[in-house]
Amino acid sequence: MSKSEQKPQATSFNKSLFGSDNNPSNIMPAKLTADSNLKFSCHPGVSCFTSCCGNINIILTPYDILRIRRPLNLPAEEFLLRFTTPVFLEKTDLPGVKIHLDENGRCPFVTEEGCTIYPYRPTTCRYYPVGMSYFHAAGNEGTTAEEFYFLVKEPYCKGHEEPKEQTIREWRAEQGIDESDEMNREWMEIVMRRKSFGLQATLSELAQKMFFMASTDLDKFRDFVFNSSFLDTYEVDAETLEKIKTDDIALMKFSCKYLASSIFGTKDLSIKAEKVRARVEQNKTSQGDAEKLAMETYEELRRDRDLLKQKIETQKKTDQNG
Ligand code: SF4
Ligand code: SF4
Repeated sequence: MSKSEQKPQATSFNKSLFGSDNNPSNIMPAKLTADSNLKFSCHPGVSCFTSCCGNINIILTPYDILRIRRPLNLPAEEFLLRFTTPVFLEKTDLPGVKIHLDENGRCPFVTEEGCTIYPYRPTTCRYYPVGMSYFHAAGNEGTTAEEFYFLVKEPYCKGHEEPKEQTIREWRAEQGIDESDEMNREWMEIVMRRKSFGLQATLSELAQKMFFMASTDLDKFRDFVFNSSFLDTYEVDAETLEKIKTDDIALMKFSCKYLASSIFGTKDLSIKAEKVRARVEQNKTSQGDAEKLAMETYEELRRDRDLLKQKIETQKKTDQNG
């Protein structure tokens, strides 16, 4: 049977970065740990090979974008234009990107032979068919996340019929997930925390633009840091500054600190003391203005009251004399 005959019907595959919201009927109910057994293998010999590389939403993390575009030797802007579509990250008001599928609904990186970017494939593709749930109690700072794994078992995925068995820990190492998780951690925490706010919370358009830029286009973010008033406003030590000039990973991590402090007001990045003083002075001035206005109003009322008093006195005298 040819591969095209074996393709499943147009089905939305359950490769998801953000937990178990899609196709819940295919999620196995058991909570798994890193030591749980996984009976699964995906390789060019499976009859469904590459079938799951279409009709799919693959959200890209900042690290995914960096990792894929580097070997392709593409600047961020060109990569974004050619291979991605803007999307709101699941159940948040945060804009990000997903892989732009071709006219047949297939991933642009898939061929009959498999994934052409396999060593640099996105985090979502590495995880499938395992999902990881973060349970951030209300997503607040300081709360610990309960992490567990779950298995996605879709009928068309023949990898579950393969004899290979290993622990989830071994499978994670094989798929390079540990490194991806470490690189994605701060960004994912921002997204999950924002998700916990619910859709009623809306960021300003400017904040959304900043999130999108920092999450998708590190070239532009670097330009923003070094060629705007950014460094007049934020305290950045000389060592970090030197590093983020050329090191994309350091810049990516720095961008997460900036996003966390600007979206949630965390202390990851401090505003310069003179900027804080200027803000206090501004507040004092506006407080002074308010006091001045209150005094003027009081004086006006007193003048009116004196005038009225005078009028009444005059009226009384007129009445007595009349
Ligand atoms: S990036 Fe690779 S593994 Fe992921 S959907 Fe595309 S072709 Fe498949
Ligand atoms: S075994 Fe599963 S993951 Fe591998 S190609 Fe088939 S459907 Fe995709």
